[in-house]
Formats: sequence, C-alpha cells, structure tokens
Amino acid sequence: MQTMLESLVEKHRPAAREGKVAEYIPELAKQDPRQLGVAVVDPAGEVHAAGDYRTRFTLQSISKLVSLMVALMDHGEEGVFSKVGMEPTGDPFHSLYKLEIADEAKPLNPMINAGAIVVSSLIRGRTVEERAERVIHLVREMADNPDIDMNRAVYRSERDTADRNRALAYFLKGCGVIDEVEETLDIYFRQCSICVDCIDLARMGLCLAQNGVTLRGKRVIPEDIARLAKTFMVTCGMYNASGEFAIRVGIPAKSGVSGGILALVPGRMGIGVFGPALDKKGNSITGTRLLEDFSKKLGLSIF
Ligand code: GLU
Repeated sequence: MQTMLESLVEKHRPAAREGKVAEYIPELAKQDPRQLGVAVVDPAGEVHAAGDYRTRFTLQSISKLVSLMVALMDHGEEGVFSKVGMEPTGDPFHSLYKLEIADEAKPLNPMINAGAIVVSSLIRGRTVEERAERVIHLVREMADNPDIDMNRAVYRSERDTADRNRALAYFLKGCGVIDEVEETLDIYFRQCSICVDCIDLARMGLCLAQNGVTLRGKRVIPEDIARLAKTFMVTCGMYNASGEFAIRVGIPAKSGVSGGILALVPGRMGIGVFGPALDKKGNSITGTRLLEDFSKKLGLSIF
C-alpha cells in the first residue's frame, strides 16, 4: 500500500499543470499547485501516507458536511430539509440563478454555497463564536485531534472578499430564508477556514465509513445522520462533477476549493487527499486522478 501511494503521488503530480489554485480567496491563491498528498486510515488504525500529506490546508467546502451534521443534530431532518433540498445540481457551487426560480428560494442541496449558508444559519448557540465552535468541535472529534483549529488568515481573507457569498446571503434574507446575513456568513467563513492535514481528513473519512464511530471507538455522530451525510457525498460531494466522479471513482467523497478531498470506503477505510491545483469545476485535478487510479487498482467502487 505504501509503495502504491508513493507511486500514485509521483504519477499524478504533473497534472497540476492542467489546473489552477483557487484565486478568488487571496490566501488560497498563495498555495503551491504542485503539492500532492494522500493518507489512508483503516479500522485497525493503520495509516499509510505519501507525498505532501503533512501540509495543512483549510476544509472549505468539506466543512459543509460537518455543519450539515450539526444542524441535523439540532433540528432533525424535517427542520433542515424544510429549508434546503436534497437534489444534485448541474450548476457551479456558488451559482445564484437557480435560487431565483426555486420555490421559496430553497437551495437545491446543502453542498452548494447557498444551501450551506442556510445550514450555517441553523446551527444553535448563543454567539457566532460558539456556533462555529460546535462545527470545529465535531471536526476535532471525528479526526480524534484536539489541536484542530481555524486558520485566521484564510478566514479574514475570505470574509473580506466574499462578494458572491454576500450576494447569495442577501438574496436568502430578502426571501425570508435566513434572518442575519453577516452573522450567518461569519459562521460559514469560520467553518471553511478549519485547518487540517491529510491524516485528519482520512480519520474523518473513517469515522463516516464506520457510520459515525471514530477510530478510537467513540460514537460522535448518530448513525442515521452519518448515513445521510455519506449519501450527499455520493450525489453532490464533487460539485457538478459528482456524476462523473461516481462513475469513474465510485466512492463517497467531498471536495473543497483549497484542494482537499475527504473520501471513504464504507466499513473499510478513510482517505484524505490534498492537491490545490483545481479543475474548472473546483475539484482538485491531481487529487481526483489519484483517487480514480487508487479506486481502480483496489476495486473500491461501491457500485
Ligand atoms: N469558502 C468557499 C466559498 O464559499 C468554499 C467553496 C468550496 O470549497 O467549494 O467560496
């Protein structure tokens, strides 16, 4: 396994040339596109990792999975899905236009920005810090790593430049879907800036692969909520490339514009990948290819 991961990293690193780091968040634009790392953790706790697996990066959209689970614990399925849908979309993750034609401005799903902003507004707590902290806490629990925290430079960088997300949030407020624009966005930017490495991601993946039970055997997510999160990973986890990813790779995965991908094979392993060169849809180009190759070599598709 170790040798295989090392050769996959070397084989797919050159594809970084075909992609670009996310430039619309100034701090993310500083990332080195040639970085590529992978970590795999199995239920026995064995870890295999290769390439730049120690590099730390922010969760970005991967946090949408975690905030969804917190909101579901707070409000149940009915409470959450009365405000955000369950259907995949062929539109880009920060698209505005379907919102205007949707019934009651209900975002199509919680993995696109509009849906994730609604989900962040549902997280309970007295202050913005406390509400965001609940998402960070679940990330720490899933990864069995109490040191995980936000990257404040990335948080500020996104907060100060997020015109599109502000547009989405104001539209949602105008339609009565959320009450508070800046507070809600603050929670959303904080969760997006949670900082991890590939091993943290792989452990989070393993927790979902074990239906909400961590590597150390602690249940941190109710089983039905873990199942629901995994289903969203399959249908919406790779933005509007989720269909192609399901066919080519065939495992639940969620990507973020920092270049991270959290993936898993149910009952068998958690996988964390980081490669900041993105394709046009916002997925890590090197990470996606590495995962495709890895899945084919080991016959991991769940379909
Ligand atoms: N913070 C990013 C944004 O809202 C997350 C997007 C992503 O990773 O897809 O634009």
